[in-house]
Amino acid sequence: MNDYNDIAVCEECGSRFRRAASRMKALCPECASVLYGCENCRHMFKNGVCAKCLWDGSRSAYIRSLSADDERNE
Ligand SMILES: [Zn+2]
Ligand SMILES: [Zn+2]
Repeated sequence: MNDYNDIAVCEECGSRFRRAASRMKALCPECASVLYGCENCRHMFKNGVCAKCLWDGSRSAYIRSLSADDERNE
């Protein structure tokens, strides 16, 4: 187990994330779940960053528009 410094930057939202926590090489678990339906991390925020995957809560405009669609109820 030597994956603790295997950290990447998400192409979509720009947040850092742990590669081991995401199914996608270039996407954090949050973006991977919104864009591709991958299993999301069950984030546990500490000091503004998820202790598990290191996602910092960033959302690209595109991700935000997709999530907003979920809440539309007309
Ligand atoms: Zn992301
Ligand atoms: Zn997380």
